Amino acid sequence: MHELAITEGVVAAVAERVPQSKVTSVLLEIGALSGVVAESVRFCFDLVTEGTSLEGAELEIVEPAAVCRCRTCGAEFAPDWPILLCACGSADVAIMSGQDLRILSVEVA
Ligand SMILES: [Zn+2]
Repeated sequence: MHELAITEGVVAAVAERVPQSKVTSVLLEIGALSGVVAESVRFCFDLVTEGTSLEGAELEIVEPAAVCRCRTCGAEFAPDWPILLCACGSADVAIMSGQDLRILSVEVA
């Protein structure tokens, strides 16, 4: 499972950054086009944090909408994933945001 490896990466990154502290909450951004299922990350989080400084920590996930820009007419719009199609009919669009997965903040005790 793809999300398990991702969650392990997130937990390892946090534990490495704040090695002396007990982490009480983690705020994660998972973009709508990141290909990562937030619910799966949530599910994996409890398993992965067991025995680490993140054990028992709260996991908050924000899922910002994606933004695309049409290369044909220049319009910016929120795509209806997985269909990246502009209102002008062009499918030649660039993804501006929504592919990110990042740690926004961490709270320690
Ligand atoms: Zn367009």
